[in-house]
Amino acid sequence: MIPKTDKFEVPKRLPKLIVFDLDCTLWTPWIDYTYGPPFIYHEDDNSLTDKMGEKLVLFKNITAVFTMIQSFPDTKIGIASRTGTPDWARMALKYFQIPELGCNLHDSIHYMEIYPGRKTQHLTELEQSSGIACQDMLFFDDEQRNAEVKKLGVHFVLVNPAKGVTMHQFQSALQQFDRQTSTTQTTLQF
Ligand SMILES: [Mg+2]
Repeated sequence: MIPKTDKFEVPKRLPKLIVFDLDCTLWTPWIDYTYGPPFIYHEDDNSLTDKMGEKLVLFKNITAVFTMIQSFPDTKIGIASRTGTPDWARMALKYFQIPELGCNLHDSIHYMEIYPGRKTQHLTELEQSSGIACQDMLFFDDEQRNAEVKKLGVHFVLVNPAKGVTMHQFQSALQQFDRQTSTTQTTLQF
């Protein structure tokens, strides 16, 4: 299904790096709750099955969201995940396709931090590897405990784990980022 984006006006100020958690933000369920590889990719519903035939499903708006980000010339994509099975996560990112772009998710991501730990560490590492300040990052994650990254200046968006990132939420977050950074700049000028 093609999301209704025709009325959306891309804001003037965009994040320089948009970061996503993986489990229950891009896909469901948690990848370390699956039985693991070998995974089989299913093109019809953009899902994987694990070695026991259980599904790992990409939420339906994710490919459209990634496609929209690719249309922003100065915005990169990052991943911050605390999964206990980073190798499985990277494998899944390579299997999941973005039909609109003719590539897989992994190929569309510029920076990745995937290992157990606190998200403040992941985001700090992303700042160092990308050279992009935390204040210029927008971060989507389904767990409230990870909102602690706000103390770094990261713009945090809490995702509904039953839906993942939706196009509506993504566009609203871009508009809010634009308003917040606009306010910050006005404050700094005075
Ligand atoms: Mg998660």
